[in-house]
Amino acid sequence: MKLAERMSRLGTETAFVVLAKAKQLEAKGKEIIHLEIGEPDFDTPRNIVESAIRALNEGWTHYGPSAGQPDLREAIAEEVSKTRGVRIEPSQVVITPGGKPVMFFAILALINEGDEVIYPNPGFPIYESVIDFIGARAVPIRLREENQFRLDVDELSSLVTPRTKMMIINSPQNPTGSVLTIEDLNAIAEISIRNNIVVLSDEIYSRIIYGVKHHSIYGIKGMPERTIILEGYSKTYAMTGWRLGYGIMPADLAEQVAKLQTNCNSCTASFSQKAGITAIKGPQDDVERMVRKFRDRRDAVVSGLNKIKNVKCLTPSGAFYVFPNVSAFGVKSAELADRILNEAGVAVLSGTSFGAFGEGYIRISYANSTANITKALDRLEIFFGKI
Ligand code: PLP
Repeated sequence: MKLAERMSRLGTETAFVVLAKAKQLEAKGKEIIHLEIGEPDFDTPRNIVESAIRALNEGWTHYGPSAGQPDLREAIAEEVSKTRGVRIEPSQVVITPGGKPVMFFAILALINEGDEVIYPNPGFPIYESVIDFIGARAVPIRLREENQFRLDVDELSSLVTPRTKMMIINSPQNPTGSVLTIEDLNAIAEISIRNNIVVLSDEIYSRIIYGVKHHSIYGIKGMPERTIILEGYSKTYAMTGWRLGYGIMPADLAEQVAKLQTNCNSCTASFSQKAGITAIKGPQDDVERMVRKFRDRRDAVVSGLNKIKNVKCLTPSGAFYVFPNVSAFGVKSAELADRILNEAGVAVLSGTSFGAFGEGYIRISYANSTANITKALDRLEIFFGKI
């Protein structure tokens, strides 16, 4: 069949491509350590699983409202009001199958062809993909290592034109683990308000943060009416396969996003939503335990990488990724990632999987056991020693 022209503009997430390559090598008997995929290696906490089983037994197996089950919308509104310090109504919450659809629906609902959207680069590849797909102009803001991979607000300001309709921010960030400061957010809010630009704030890693506080732009005066928060359960509660996320936005936009869902996926799985209430309202010890483990692994991976000659790695404050600088080896990142997989048996991603400004870097996910991380570091040391 002949594809529609727009399909040529759709990007993807290379993590899934690398995973497939790694699986092929495994099928041939090679032992691969997986540091490519962005998902917690922990199981979903038991109380959440039990809650879903109960929900299934109680018959939560039918369609529900497109915007989400009212009791979950209420629980999320209450929770996010507390964490962001602004009163949020249930009518401002849309439940989606994972956080990712919030990106797609928000861009689809708000952006016209030819509009400009500023997005972080290196950054989550789906931003650029969806902006291109709908025929808008993707304008990258470069995240620089010398600025701890936080965006530079003066540079952001210089990229704004009369056509700029949206800015996407992501903190804690994938792939660099950087966290925006309250000063950064105040400056971004000022640019947004001055130029009437919507902010899509991807806060999916808000709870996976070490020693610093997560600040949301939503809490800044003048921002709730022009901000969409993307949040979800995948990372915080190790629920990637459940497909449960949500967006917080003005109520009139929430109605439109719900209408897009009616046209697309009807609703989010009803029993997943029931379990989502338990996740929020139940004890948070498991989340805290996972974050403590991530922190220990981050420390191990950063110190191990910095011991390797010519590898330079910052200590990120959030998410579960490091983004080491490997430019000293003079090999293109994509080739380097390929060679690391084939020669060292460690699956990592090229920095360029996150945009052109990721050249010179690789992304390592430390959502794996300490034993595997230690083994991977040994293999990387041998590999880099031979280049
Ligand atoms: N945003 C960022 C920055 C991510 O890294 C991811 C997943 O990797 C998502 C959003 C989407 O997560 P999900 O759809 O599983 O909630």
